[in-house]
Amino acid sequence: MPDQPEQIEAPRMGEPYLLTPGPLTTSFATKEAMLRDWGSWDDDFRVMTAGMRTRLLEMVGPGAEDHDCVPMQGSGTFAVEAMLGSFVPRDGKALVLANGAYGQRAAETLRYLGRAHSVIDKGDYLPPRGHEVAAALAADPDITHVVAVHCETSSGILNPLQEISDAVRDAGRKLLVDSMSAFGAIPLQVCDIPFEAMVSSANKCIEGVPGFGFVIARNDAIQAARGRSHSLSLDVHAQWKTMNETGQWRFTPPTHVVAAFLEALRAHQAEGGVAGRGSRYRRNRDVLVSGMRKLGFETLLDDHWLSPIIVTFFCPADPSFRFAEFYDAMKQRGFIIYPGKLTQVDSFRIGCIGQMDENVMRQVVRAAGEALKDMNVTSAAPSQAAIRERAKLAN
Ligand SMILES: *Cc1c(COP(=O)(O)O)cnc(C)c1O
Repeated sequence: MPDQPEQIEAPRMGEPYLLTPGPLTTSFATKEAMLRDWGSWDDDFRVMTAGMRTRLLEMVGPGAEDHDCVPMQGSGTFAVEAMLGSFVPRDGKALVLANGAYGQRAAETLRYLGRAHSVIDKGDYLPPRGHEVAAALAADPDITHVVAVHCETSSGILNPLQEISDAVRDAGRKLLVDSMSAFGAIPLQVCDIPFEAMVSSANKCIEGVPGFGFVIARNDAIQAARGRSHSLSLDVHAQWKTMNETGQWRFTPPTHVVAAFLEALRAHQAEGGVAGRGSRYRRNRDVLVSGMRKLGFETLLDDHWLSPIIVTFFCPADPSFRFAEFYDAMKQRGFIIYPGKLTQVDSFRIGCIGQMDENVMRQVVRAAGEALKDMNVTSAAPSQAAIRERAKLAN
C-alpha cells in the first residue's frame, strides 16, 4: 500500500457527485486524458491497448498466464453477451443464478442467443447458495456452464461467489462471472475462483468513463470459442485473434475512453490496487450506512450481505416522503442518487464507488437529513411491508 494515497478532489466543473454504479464520478486527470486524438492504427495506441490488457490480467493474480484479456466496444451488457455467445457452446446448457436485474438479463440474453439454459431465480435479492448450485448441477448433467453475478447491482448484494465457484468446480462444470460492478474493488483471483471467463467494464470500480467492457478468459476457452459466436461484432475469439496478431481492435476503438481508462488504471494501482480501492469503498459504505441508520433509514440487507459497491435503503413509510422530491433535494445539494429496483417495496440506492471518500459520504448523510426536513418527514422508518420483506433474508 502506498504511504500517501492520492488525494480525492471534488469535481472541478461544479457538477454533482454521481452516487450511481456507473457512469460514476471520475477524477479530473481521467477526464483530462481524453483531450487529444489517437489514430487507431498508430503504434502509440497499440501500445496503450497492450498495456491495458496486461494490467487487467495482472489483477486476476497468479495463474493469469493461462488467461488473456479481450476488450470489447460497447457497454457492459455487450461484453456479457459476447461472453455468453462465445463460451456457451451451441449444444451446451447454462445455469443462470439470478437474484436481480442483471441475472435476469443474462437469462434473457441466452434466450436471444438460442442457448439452452435453466435459472435458479432467488427473487429480488436473496443470495444463490453453493448447496443450491450443487443440487441443481447434480440433478442436471446437461448443464455445462454456470453464470453467476458477483455483485448484483440492482440490490447491492455481494453474492457468495466462493461457495458458488467451489460447487461448480466440484461438479466439473465451468463458471462464467459477471463481475461488472465488483472487479477492481473486490478480489477475483483465478487461484481462488477458477473461472472460464469473467467480464467487467471501464466505468465501474476502475473509475474510467463508459465505452467498453472486457472479457478475461482461459486461453484454451478462447481457442475453443472459434466460430461459435452468433454475432460478428461480439465474437470474442475473432477480437482476440485480431488483437494478438495486429495489436488493433477489429472495429473503431473508443480511443479516448481507452486513454482515460489507462489514467484510471494508473490511479487504481497508486491507491493500492484492488485492496486499496476496496478499502476506500468499504469506508464509504460504512460512513454512509451508519449515518443513514442514525437518521432512521434502514437497509434492505443486513451487514453480512452489504457490498461496498451500492446500498439499497427502504423509502420511509412517512406519507410526506416522496422519492422524486427527495431526489431533487439531494441533487440541489450536489448528489445524484439512484431509484431502487425492488419489485415488492419502495426503495432507493446510493452508490459508494467513484471519486469519493468518507468526507463526501458524511456530506451525503447531512444532505439526506436536510432533505427529510425540507419534506417535513419526521421518521425515516420503513413500512411494515418492507420489514416483512427483509425478514425473508433471515430465514
Ligand atoms: C453495470 C452492470 C452491467 C452492465 O450494464 P451496462 O448498462 O450495459 O453497462 C452488467 N452487470 C452488472 C452486475 C452491472 O452492474
